[in-house]
This record gives sequence, C-alpha cells and structure tokens, in this order.
Amino acid sequence: MRPNLAPAVNATGVIVHTNLGRSLLSRRAKEMMEMAGSHYTTLEIDRQTGERGSRYDNIEELLCELTGAEAAFVVNNNAAAVLLALSALAAGREVIISRGELIEIGGSFRIPDVMKQGGARLVEVGTTNKVYAEDYEEAITEETALLLKVHTSNYRVVGFTRDVKLEELVEVGRKHDLPVLDDLGSGVFLDMKEFGLQPEPTAAERVAAGADIVTFSGDKILGGPQAGIVVGKSEYIARLKKHPLTRAVRVDKYTLAALEGTLKAYLDPEGVIDEIPTLKMLSLGDAELKESAEGLKQAIKKLLPGEEFSVEVEKDISRVGGGAYPLSELPTRIVSLRWSAGKIDRVAAAIRTGYPPVFTRLADDRMIFDVRTLQQGDEDIICRALESALDEILN
Ligand SMILES: *Cc1c(COP(=O)(O)O)cnc(C)c1O
Repeated sequence: MRPNLAPAVNATGVIVHTNLGRSLLSRRAKEMMEMAGSHYTTLEIDRQTGERGSRYDNIEELLCELTGAEAAFVVNNNAAAVLLALSALAAGREVIISRGELIEIGGSFRIPDVMKQGGARLVEVGTTNKVYAEDYEEAITEETALLLKVHTSNYRVVGFTRDVKLEELVEVGRKHDLPVLDDLGSGVFLDMKEFGLQPEPTAAERVAAGADIVTFSGDKILGGPQAGIVVGKSEYIARLKKHPLTRAVRVDKYTLAALEGTLKAYLDPEGVIDEIPTLKMLSLGDAELKESAEGLKQAIKKLLPGEEFSVEVEKDISRVGGGAYPLSELPTRIVSLRWSAGKIDRVAAAIRTGYPPVFTRLADDRMIFDVRTLQQGDEDIICRALESALDEILN
C-alpha cells in the first residue's frame, strides 16, 4: 500500500525538475490546499448575493496587483494558456512569429503544432538568428490576427543575432491595431540578478511594456502549483474567459488555493525568498551549501567505513531546470561517492528503486549528491537508502 506517486529525494541539483514534479510548495500554499480539501470553499460563489460567482475572482485581484495588469485569469498550465489565447484571438486567421522563436518545449509542446491546434495559420518572419520590426510589418495582411512573442526558454542563439524587443513589437501592433501575445515561459516576479542569474523580464515589466496578453507557468521559477497564468488587457482576457475551451482547461480548487498561497508571499518582498522553496534553493549561498555537504559527507562516511568507499565534498554546478536558464550555472557543493570494489551505478539504481526513492547524478564513476535540492530529513533517507542498497548488492 505504499503510494505509487512516491515522495522522492532530489539530489540532482536541478531545482525545477519537471520529472520530479517541478516546484515544492510554500507552507502557506500547502495550508491553503489542505483547507480547500477539508472544507467547502467560496470557490465560485458571490458572498454578497449568494449567487454563482466566478472562480477567478479570488485570484484576479492578486495577480493584477503583482503584475500591474488590468485583468488576469488562470488555466491548467502555460501550454493551455497559449493554446487558449491562440484559439480565442486568432482561429482561422494568421499569427506572425519570428523563426527564431518556433521552439519545442519538452513533452512535444511545439509552437507550430500548438498554433495549428488553435486553428491559427503560422506566418514566420526573419531568419533563425535575426529578425527586425520591419519583417513583422511586411508580413501583416488583412488576415493577421495577432503578433506572437515566445520566450526561447530552453535554448539560446548566440553570436550574430538580432531580436525584436517586446516594446518594438508592441509599437508595430499599435500601429496596425493588432494584439501582442507574449509567452513568457517561466515568468518571474523578482529581479533574478538577486540570485546571481542573468536578468529575466518580470511579468510586470512585460505588462508595462504594453503586451496585450502575457502568459507564464505557475510551477517553474514562480514556485507554485502547476498553472498557466494569463494577465493583460481586460478586452482580451474577457474574450479568453468566454471561449468554450476555457472550461476544458479549467483549474481546480486545489490549484487556485495553492496559487493564492504562493502569490500572497510575493506581496512581502522581504520574506518571499525564505517562504517559497524554489526561491530559497536558488538563493542558497556557498557557506550554507558547504555546511550541508560536510554534514552529509560525515553521515555517509560513518555508514561506509573502510577503504573501498571514498566520500568527498566537491564544487560543482546546479541547474535551474524547468527549461529555464539553459546556460546558467549555479555554483554548488556536492558530496561524491566512489566505490573501488563495485559499480557505483548499481548503488544508484538500488537507491532509486528503493523506498523512498533517491535520485542522484552519475559522472566519472562517482555518484553525486547535490545538497542544493535536498530538503529537511533527506540526509537520513539517503543514509538508510545507501545502507539497504549495499546490503542488497553485497548479500
Ligand atoms: C515551459 C514553457 C511552456 C509550457 O508551460 P507549462 O506550464 O509547462 O505548460 C510554454 N512556453 C514556454 C516558453 C515555456 O518555457
């Protein structure tokens, strides 16, 4: 009767690990979900009249406050948000996008396919590495419904490149009375320079730059539940809300509860990094990482005495994950384990298939535990897992 969806130890150092469930929730978000599961809630009811209300009301004001947008709502994930926006605003008509932004996100989310599914006709402009505002302008016809900008989250074109800034695209859109849809991918509310990462545009900056609709994920760097957040101009958001597909990609009460709990943390810029686990892991400094690594090393050493095993603390690199920041390296501390008498990948497989499962990295005949993504209690789980793995392999 152990759960099939098992609690896992993430020792990979990939913070937003999509295959391990992306973000961990803040305490406030977890409490909100627990509340929503234990009580009837004011999910979709107007307390003034007692009549049916909108399930988006509770979250809309909060999102508008955090992004400066006129209107907002939420669907199941960002893929659904983009599909819905294209379906509602561009079905049967043309959408202009730069060739350099025709991306594939993991799990076969390909922009050209999503467009087709949304009933929009793709009009590519520019080349892989260069695009200019004039390219968009020249492609505009009677049939054009929308200008689309997509964050190239998981890859970079470097060198001889030229991109059209959102501001430029908005200008083209204004001139021709066309909305601009900005798929931001991760979506952040904070200045990422604080974490030693390259600056990323915040959702508020994109709204201020004039994007008519901005979409982003709830469970990437934002650190909340899986959700597709849509913010922007009231006239367009209203069209999305009325579209029949909206019901098919509707978020449930747990998502809304967890998202409210997550977003409320952002109202307090002083406390938000400590409150949201994803941000906390991003912000860990060398002193903290070194201390946890030394602790884990000692615990493993105690468990595996003898000459066969070597346990070391080393410097290495953690990753943001979630298809964001493909080039960014977060310096971290790892505990590496070598085994002269046997194959370390057998140990890795054994702790991965045990309970609770432990996921590590393997490199150069070492098993690597990156302490950046470890949570409270994980050290004990790792030690027990190693113990029973060796027991199993040696006996
Ligand atoms: C991740 C991503 C998506 C898909 O978002 P999900 O929330 O995973 O559905 C879409 N567009 C971009 C640019 C992304 O980075």
